[in-house]
Amino acid sequence: MVIACPKCDWRPGPAALWQCSCAHVWPTFATHGVCPACGRVWHDTQCLACKAWSDHEDWYHDDDGLTVADYLADPARSREDTALPAGK
Ligand SMILES: [Zn+2]
Ligand SMILES: [Zn+2]
Repeated sequence: MVIACPKCDWRPGPAALWQCSCAHVWPTFATHGVCPACGRVWHDTQCLACKAWSDHEDWYHDDDGLTVADYLADPARSREDTALPAGK
């Protein structure tokens, strides 16, 4: 199983942390998007790389589910992202 941004394919490492609205900072994929401090459920997760919000479930990718079409589609999406004006 791979955890990656559905928009840019960024893969959060062990040092990747998210901040809850209660100010608690934690690795959100360790708790499936639930803040361990206040119990808030984050149905959407923001990518720390491209800043886009995606459904938390969409971050989980099954290794076996990756098709050639998916693989070829990823670099195309990355190019679209990098083609956006800086700061967008
Ligand atoms: Zn919280
Ligand atoms: Zn991203």
